[in-house]
Formats: sequence, structure tokens, C-alpha cells
Amino acid sequence: MTRPYLGNPKYTIEVLQKYDFVFQKRFGQNFLIDTHVLEKIIDASEITKDDFVLEIGPGIGTMTQYLAETAHEVAAVEIDKALIPILKDTLKEWDNVTVINDDILKVDIRKLALEKNEGRPIKVVANLPYYITTPIIMGLFENHVPMESITIMVQKEVAERMQVGPGTKDYGALSLAVQYYAKPKIVANVPPNCFMPRPKVGSAVIRLDRYKTPPVQVKDEKLMFRIIRASFNQRRKTLVNSLKNSPELNFTKDQIEEAISACGFSLNIRGEALTLQQFAELSNSIN
Ligand code: SAM
Repeated sequence: MTRPYLGNPKYTIEVLQKYDFVFQKRFGQNFLIDTHVLEKIIDASEITKDDFVLEIGPGIGTMTQYLAETAHEVAAVEIDKALIPILKDTLKEWDNVTVINDDILKVDIRKLALEKNEGRPIKVVANLPYYITTPIIMGLFENHVPMESITIMVQKEVAERMQVGPGTKDYGALSLAVQYYAKPKIVANVPPNCFMPRPKVGSAVIRLDRYKTPPVQVKDEKLMFRIIRASFNQRRKTLVNSLKNSPELNFTKDQIEEAISACGFSLNIRGEALTLQQFAELSNSIN
């Protein structure tokens, strides 16, 4: 068998049968069975032999084999206990992989990156479990994990949401949060037949390049994101009303109107019309 070998559906089926593996829907388990897609993810992530890579959800180790071939070192965090003996088997030919049996949302990734890569930026690569895409991405950014890029498979609509600007229905809090921290680029669309079992939705690979400094200057990041959340929680209301009604914010109607006017926006404007730059201006003005 030439390495890596698991991208071939025949070997995937062999491994699943050998271990009587039962797919867990609640863990979003859809394993990749297409070598072209795997190669595309590896190419897009631009991993080199100097890189430390964090993989989220290795499954039976299909992409992990590719990552281990390409990177200096790989840490792979998998929640499903049943996959651990399988990973031990499928990754036995590589000595640069550590498998961690844990919930990624509970792992201190910043600490892991600091310990394993001496604080140098890591690369994150994953075919994500779709039910927790947003908390995973936001956790990586908000916890200031030293990170160069994230290359991930996500649901197609979610990839689009991360990339769009104002004036589209997909524009929302996720678009702004991602674009504050990183430059997004969709690199491939992936149909359901590239997975086993097939997901009900289309997928896309997106690469997020972490900014060294954010593209806008904000005095209080947390306040800006509270304003963004409030704006999109009630996106059909005017900005004034959504901010006034938000339980996360404590401003009077007068204060809100004053700040909006000071930015030169109409008092009838809706939050969904504002760019990241304008949200930054508003949060600096209301601050
Ligand atoms: N990387 C594999 C592949 O491409 O074939 C599997 C991808 S599958 C879409 C998602 C993987 O994430 C599954 O192996 C699942 O068990 C794992 N997973 C789900 N929730 C997780 C969590 N909270 N923490 C870590 N892994 C998780």
C-alpha cells in the first residue's frame, strides 16, 4: 500500500468493517472518500515540513495520513472513543501524529499550540463536524490561538456566509466576526458523494488567513461584537431599535441616536447595511 492510502473508498470500507464501526450522527460523522478533494485541501493549506498542524475530528484518520506526510507534526483531536483504536491502527506508520481523545470545545488549544510549537503560529486543517462549526471557529479566534491559517470543510451555505458583505441575505454576525480576524477564500465546492455516509447538504472548503493586525481599529472589541450581535438578532428592525432592545447593551435611545448620527448614518438605517468598518466606527463612537 502506498502512503497515504485511506482516501481510497475500498480501504475506508475495509477499516470500517474490520472494527464494526457504527457512524454516530450526533458527532457529524461524514468521512471523506475522495483523493482529489483530500489533495485539494492539502494544497490549499500550503503545509510544509516546518508546520505544526491541528486537525479537528480526524475520524478514521483519512486526512490525518495526508497531513502527517506533509507537515512536521500533527495533533488530532477526536471526541469519539470508538475511533481511537482505529486511529492507532491507521496512523501506525507515522511517528509525528498525536491523537487526543477529547471534545475540541473543551481543549485549551492556545496552551497546546504554545507547548507543542513554542508559540509559533500553527495551521488548522479539518473536515469539521458541521453541528459545531461556528463555536469551533470563534473559539480559535477569540482565544487568540497563535495561528496562521484555518483550512476547513464546512457546509456550503456557511462558507458563503463567511465570505459575503452587506446587501446579501447571508451577511450576518458570522461574516463580520470571520472578516475581523481573517481573510476568507472559498477554494472548492464539494458534493455529497465525496463523503461516507453522504451528507444532506453541499460542502465547501474555505481558507481563512489570520490577520496579524485587524483590518479595522476598535477601542473595545467585545462591545463591537455585542453591537453586531444585537443588530443581526433583530435584523428587520432599525439599528436604533435593535441596539435599544438588546439585553447585552445598556445604552439609552438618546445615546444610541447620538452615536449613529455622529457616524453620519441615517437614524432609519438597519444594522445589516453596515460594513465592518462602519460597525467599528459606531462602536468607537458609542464607547
Ligand atoms: N476528518 C475525517 C474525514 O475527513 O474523513 C472525519 C470528518 S467528520 C465530518 C467530523 C469528525 O469530527 C468525526 O470524526 C467526529 O467524530 C469528530 N467530532 C465531532 N464532534 C467533535 C468534537 N466536539 N470534538 C472533536 N471531534 C469531534
